[in-house]
This record gives sequence, C-alpha cells and structure tokens, in this order.
Amino acid sequence: MKTRIPFISLALTLFFLIVCGPLQAYGAGRIDLVVDRGTSRDVEAAARAAIEATNDFFKKVYGLTLERKVEIFLVPDRQAHIKELKQRYSLTETEAASRAQSTSGSALDGIIIVNAANTGGKQGLFFCLCHELVHYFQGQVSRNFCAIMWLTEGTANVLAAQIMAAAGVQCLEAGLWPEVLKRGPGIPRLEHLHSFKDWGTTINSYGQATAYAVSSMAVVTLIRAKGNKPLFAFFQGLNKAKPEDAFYQAFGVKLADFEKNFRPY
Ligand SMILES: [Zn+2]
Repeated sequence: MKTRIPFISLALTLFFLIVCGPLQAYGAGRIDLVVDRGTSRDVEAAARAAIEATNDFFKKVYGLTLERKVEIFLVPDRQAHIKELKQRYSLTETEAASRAQSTSGSALDGIIIVNAANTGGKQGLFFCLCHELVHYFQGQVSRNFCAIMWLTEGTANVLAAQIMAAAGVQCLEAGLWPEVLKRGPGIPRLEHLHSFKDWGTTINSYGQATAYAVSSMAVVTLIRAKGNKPLFAFFQGLNKAKPEDAFYQAFGVKLADFEKNFRPY
C-alpha cells in the first residue's frame, strides 16, 4: 500500500504541501511547465528560470540530472488552483477548496501544482519551485530520503537559497531563518525532528516556520563545516545504511553529537 504522508513546507508567506514518499525514477527526465491562462508573463518567466537554475545547479554541484518526468501546473488564482487540484489529484471539491485555502502548492508523485497568487511574489515562487524540485533530486538518489526530516527539509531550503544565489535572485527566506528562531516560541531539538510523526508534533508545538528555520540553520552549519558534497552522499547512503550510519559516513561526525552540540546562532 502506498503511504501518503502530507507535510507542509514554508517560508513565512508561503505554505507548500508536499507528499513525501518514494519518488520512483521512470521515463525520460524532463520538467514540463504548464501555465494556466491568466498567469502573467513575469510569473511564468520566474518559474522557467527556477527550473533552469535548479537543473544547472544539480548538474554542476552534484553531477545529477533529473531522471523522471515532473509536470508543474502554474495557476494564477484560487479558483484555478481548486480546479487543478480536483483534476490532477482527484480531490473532491471540499478537499480541493481546503487545500487551496491552506497551501500555495502541492507535490504528489510527478505533479506539482502551484498557485502563484499565494507564494509571496516572484521571489517566493522561485524559492517554492526550487525547494520542491530539490525533493525530487533527493528522491532520485534515495529510496529513504525522508529518514531524518530536518535534513530533508533543511536541505531543500538551503539548496533552494543557493540555487537562487547562483541565478542572481535574492532569497529573502534565508535571511529570515535566524530571526524566525529568535522571535519564535523556542528552538526545537533536532532529535525531535526525525520522523514524520515527530515533525508534525513539532510543527504543532512550535509552528512550521520555526521547524523549517531550525532545520535550515542546521544544514547551513553542516555545509559551512563540510561543504555541499556530503549532503547528497548522505541521501545516497540511506539506501544501504541506517540513518545514523549514513550521517557518520557522509559528515564524519556522529548524528547524536551534532544534534546535541548544534546551536542555530
Ligand atoms: Zn519540503
């Protein structure tokens, strides 16, 4: 049976819902952008630039090319969002209306649906698409890429910021992570952000902005110490090793020690 576990991605102004699970590689690798009528040319151009920048980044930094087909449906408003959610994900009217209310986008299997009106402008849309596409690369190299959620989501956020920097696009989200933590209700422990269940519990207690911010800062810390390469070595390692072992093999430090010693600022 297929497990569908929804979780929410964010930046302050955007809420992105993705279903994290095995992303099987099949067919020829390709990202198609399907633009709904009513979407401005500027928004469409930002989406195309995000796709191109993500592909360029992964080729250059990790030597990876996306092997599966991904379709991105870009819509301009809530009404079109509900229509696509119903059509592409077979949701009922009520389910689609609820999801369109609470999210700016969803990713399920090879289909991403994004409502550009909810992403906080072109910059937010760029960030959203990069973040979600990083998940597809994670899923391509690992059957178990959600083993440690703070690494899954933190990597998607931090690489999205790097992709934007490489493309010369300002990433407002990255600058906000320390502030989000300073102003939030407290800092969750990384060891409480491993499983889906823990991730959901922490979001309920601390809010999603805090969960994403602490995860992102943890990945920033790892990259500062070890560079970019070990991140995807870790995700690849999850195919053969337990998460703790894959972490040690990739980063040369024990997961428990890193989590215990981590300070976001
Ligand atoms: Zn995500």
